[in-house]
Amino acid sequence: MKIIEIFETMEYSPAPENPALALDWLKEHKSKFGLFINGKWCKAKSGKVFSTDNPASGKKLASISEAGKSDVDSAVRAAKLAFPKWKALSGHERARYLYALARQLQKHSRLFAVLETMDNGKTIRETRDIDIPLVIRHFYHHSGWAQLLESEFPEHMAIGPIGQIIPWNFPLLMLSWKVAPALAAGNTVVLKPAEYTSLTALLFAEICSQVGLPPGVFNLVTGPGQTGSLMVNHSDLKKIAFTGSTDVGRLIREATADTDKKLTLELGGKSPFIIFEDADLDSAIEGLVDAIWFNQGQVCCAGSRLLVQESVAEKVIDRLKRRMAKLRVGDPLDKSMDMGAIIAPIQKERIQNLVDQGKKEGAAIWQWDGKLPQNEEKKGDGCYFPPTLFTNVSPASIIAQTEIFGPVLVSMTFRTPDEAVMLANNSAYGLAASVWSENINQALHVAPKLKAGVVWINCTNQFDASVGFGGYRESGYGREGGHEGMFEYLKPKESGISKNQFRISVAKVKASATTALSLDRTAKLYIGGKQARPDSGYSLNVVNADGSLAGEIGDGNRKDIRNAVEAAHKASGWQSSTPHLRAQILYFLAENLETRAVEFKNRITQLTGVTEKQAALEVKTAVSRIFTYAALADKHEGLIHQPPMRGLALALNEPIGVLGLVCPDEAPLLSMLSMLLPAIAMGNSVVLVPSRPFALVATDFYQVLETSDVPSGVVNIVTGDSAKLGTVLAKHDDVAGLWVAGTKTECTEACKLSTGNMKIIWTNNGKQLDWFDNQQSEGREWMRRASQVKNVWIPYGE
Ligand code: NDP
Repeated sequence: MKIIEIFETMEYSPAPENPALALDWLKEHKSKFGLFINGKWCKAKSGKVFSTDNPASGKKLASISEAGKSDVDSAVRAAKLAFPKWKALSGHERARYLYALARQLQKHSRLFAVLETMDNGKTIRETRDIDIPLVIRHFYHHSGWAQLLESEFPEHMAIGPIGQIIPWNFPLLMLSWKVAPALAAGNTVVLKPAEYTSLTALLFAEICSQVGLPPGVFNLVTGPGQTGSLMVNHSDLKKIAFTGSTDVGRLIREATADTDKKLTLELGGKSPFIIFEDADLDSAIEGLVDAIWFNQGQVCCAGSRLLVQESVAEKVIDRLKRRMAKLRVGDPLDKSMDMGAIIAPIQKERIQNLVDQGKKEGAAIWQWDGKLPQNEEKKGDGCYFPPTLFTNVSPASIIAQTEIFGPVLVSMTFRTPDEAVMLANNSAYGLAASVWSENINQALHVAPKLKAGVVWINCTNQFDASVGFGGYRESGYGREGGHEGMFEYLKPKESGISKNQFRISVAKVKASATTALSLDRTAKLYIGGKQARPDSGYSLNVVNADGSLAGEIGDGNRKDIRNAVEAAHKASGWQSSTPHLRAQILYFLAENLETRAVEFKNRITQLTGVTEKQAALEVKTAVSRIFTYAALADKHEGLIHQPPMRGLALALNEPIGVLGLVCPDEAPLLSMLSMLLPAIAMGNSVVLVPSRPFALVATDFYQVLETSDVPSGVVNIVTGDSAKLGTVLAKHDDVAGLWVAGTKTECTEACKLSTGNMKIIWTNNGKQLDWFDNQQSEGREWMRRASQVKNVWIPYGE
C-alpha cells in the first residue's frame, strides 16, 4: 500500500501484542492451578476443577481447582492463625511488604496485562494503560497507609481475617482495591476471584510468595459462587468485602444479618451522563466513549444513561453516531482496538435479551455495523457485542432502569437543570454520575444534588487509590480507596470495661394506679413539627419504677411511620442548611435542655428507678453530648484528594437522607440523644422510635425541640411498640438508613428486612453499649456513620 493510500483510508494495520509471555507462564504451570493457602499451593480436597477460557477465542486457557468447604475452612484457619502476628507488626514492616508487592507487580506488569486480556477479553490498551498501573498505584498508596497507620488512625485497629469476593470485570484491579487496604490495616485475607477470571489472582499469589509475605496473610480460594457463599457463612471471617451484582449483595446481607461481620458492598449501577447545552460537546462525546464503551460497558459505574439537554440533543446524537461508527471492535490483544470481547456467551445473551426488550418497548436503536470477529473454536459468532445506542427511551422503561452491563447506551433529554437532576436520580442505584458543562457554577450546583457516591465533572471513569469509590442506595455502601476507604478495614479500639452498668427494670403497672390518670396526660406523637394523634387512636400505659402510672403514649403504627417519613423528606432543606446553622441550633438545644434539667432528672428517676445522682449525671452528660455534636457539626469536613491528574477530587461528607432510629431502653435520654445528635448534626432528618417503657422521656424532649428552632420534620418521634415500629422502618423504601440499638433478634430482623432498598444499617447487634462512655458513644465514628462520602472530581486546565 502506498503512503498516499494510507492517508486516504487511514486504515489501521494489525498491532498485536505478543502473548508469548503469558502462554509461557501457563505452560510452566502445565495450565493447571491449585489453591493458595497458608503460603502453599494445594489441590482442592474435592479434586474438582473448572476451566477458564479466553472469551475472545473461546479457547481453554487452564484448569483451576474448585475450593469446597474444607478448603475454605483451611484458608480461613490460615488467615486466622496469621492475623495476630501480622497485626502486631509495626506499620513500617507491613509497609515494606506492600511496597515489595508494588515493585513486583510493576516488574511483571506486561505479563499481568497480557494475562488479564486473555482471561477477560478486555483490550490490552486498557489492561496495559489503566488496570495494571492502577493496581500498582494501589499497592504503593496503601504501603503509605500501612506506614502511617498508628499516627493517622490512633483510635482504630485491624478487624481480623477478612473474606473478599470480587467480580470478573476488573479482576486484578478489584483484587488490589480490596487486598491492599486490608493488609495495610493489619488484617489477613481470604480472597475469591470470579470463576471466569482467576488467572491474575493466581499470578498475584505467586508474587506474594516471591516477596516472602508471611504464610496465611493472603489466601486464595478459586471456585464458583458457592465458594463465595461458604466464605460469607464462615463464622471466623470478621468482615466480607464484596463487589458484584446487587442480587448477590442482598443475599450476602441477609446471610450475615445475625452476625457481627462488617460488610462493604460495591454493587451495580445505572449511572447518568449529563450533557448541558453549554458543554464542550466534542469532549463530552469522547467522554461518552470512555463512559460506556470502556471495558465493553461491563463496568459498574458505566455512564449508561445519557441525559442531554434538549437544545443540543440532535447535535449530540448525530455526532455520537458518527463517533460510534469509528469505534474498533475486535481482537483484544490488538493494541489499536477500542473494544474487545464480552466475558462469556451467557453474558452476551443477557445483553441481547435486554436490547430486544428495549426494541419491544418502542425505543429507537442504532448499532455499529462493522464486522465482529468469529469464534475460532466453534467457527461461529465470536463473543462480541456491537456498540449500541437507544434513543426515544422512556425514563421508566426496563432499559432505562436495569443495569445492562454491556456496550449499550440509552439516551433521554431534559430541558432544565432541575429536570436533569430529577431524571438522574430516577434510579434505584446511585454509584456514579458525570456532568458536562463549561459553567463550573452550574456543574458544582448540580453535583451535590446527585444521589451518587462519585461525580465526575467534565470527565468520566476516573479512579485513583487516594480517592474513595462506592455507592449510594442500591449501589451498596462503604468506600474503597483513600482515607475514607481505610476506615472500612478498621474498627474502633475497644474502650475499657463499662463503668456504668444499667439496671433496666421495667415496672408493671399496679392495678390501682390506672384510674388515677386523666386523659390529658397522653403524650402524642411528634410529626412534622406538630403533635399528632396516633392513627390507631390507641395509647399505651407508661409505668414508673414504683409501679404507678406515669402517663400514656400514642400507640404508633405503620401509617404513623409513613407520615413521619413523609415529613422527614419534606425537611430536606436541613441537608442543605449550613453546618454553622446546624451547630447554632444544637447549642440552643443544649441550653434549653439544661433549663429543664431538673424536670428530666425527675422523669428519669421516676421512670427508671435510678438514683437522683445517676439521673442528674445522665442529663449533664446529655448536655455535654449536645455540645460535642454542635462542635462537630461544622468540623466533620471533607478532604481534598490530589490524584495524579491535573485536577482535584473533593471528598464531601454528605448526609444519608432520612434515617430511622430505634432507641434502646438503657439511659433513655442519653442513648436517644447519642443516636439523634450525630444524625441531625450531619444534616439528616430522622424518624425516631424511642424506648417503649421510657418513651415519656422522648415526648418530654419534643418540647425542648420545639423551643430550639429545630425545623419542622427534622426530628419526628413515633412512640409505640419499638420492635414493631423498627420492622416498619426496616421495610420502608424511602428510609435511606437505619440504626437499631435493640435486642439481638431485633437487630437481625432489621438487617434482614431492610435489604429491599439496601439501606445503610448500623445495629448494636444486641450488645449493650455504655452510653456514658465518650469513646464508644460519641464523636467522629458516629458522624461517619451518619454520613456518606461523595467524591467530586474536577479536572482543571484548558
Ligand atoms: P455476581 O454478583 O454473581 O458475582 C460476583 C462475585 O460473587 C463472583 O466472584 C461470584 O462468583 C460471587 N458469587 C456469586 N454468587 C455468590 C453467592 N451466593 N455468595 C457469595 N459469592 C457469590 O455477578 P456475575 O458475575 O454473575 O454478574 C451478573 C451481573 O452482576 C452482571 O450482569 C452485572 O449486572 C452485575 N455485576 C456487577 C458488577 C459490579 O462491579 N457492580 C461486577 C460484576 C457483575 P462466580 O463468578 O464464581 O460466580
